[in-house]
Amino acid sequence: MEVDVNLLCEICGRREAEHRCRLCRRWVCDRCYNVLEGLCTDCLRLRWQATVKPVTTPLLVKLLPLLFIIPMILIFAGFTLVFLGLATGEGASYGGFIIIGPFPIVFGKNVNPTVLTVGGTILTVVAILLTLLPLILRRTL
Ligand SMILES: [Zn+2]
Ligand SMILES: [Zn+2]
Repeated sequence: MEVDVNLLCEICGRREAEHRCRLCRRWVCDRCYNVLEGLCTDCLRLRWQATVKPVTTPLLVKLLPLLFIIPMILIFAGFTLVFLGLATGEGASYGGFIIIGPFPIVFGKNVNPTVLTVGGTILTVVAILLTLLPLILRRTL
């Protein structure tokens, strides 16, 4: 009898087993086997579940450099403001409005240089704290 010679699929138990899963070593039929992966449907599902979970973590890892880049820009902006505040006297004639992330930076015409200097200093300090924040968080976690 053909049934005695050929094994039945170890997953569905209905069709003739034609392939062997390279992971669990079970004999499976054509329907319960992925030729490309060389895996049975069970192992394929398990592997898919295993690969899906870590995908969410590297996304945060990818975003982590942004936590460093943003404060870097802020530090640069802060220093620029300090420089502008120190370099320009009364009646400075420049204007601009920059938004970096949630931080709006305003520098306009006839702005008191002291305001620029103080604002720039505060901005720089905040930016440095933001730079250190991921490091502190990583240490405490
Ligand atoms: Zn099967
Ligand atoms: Zn398998």
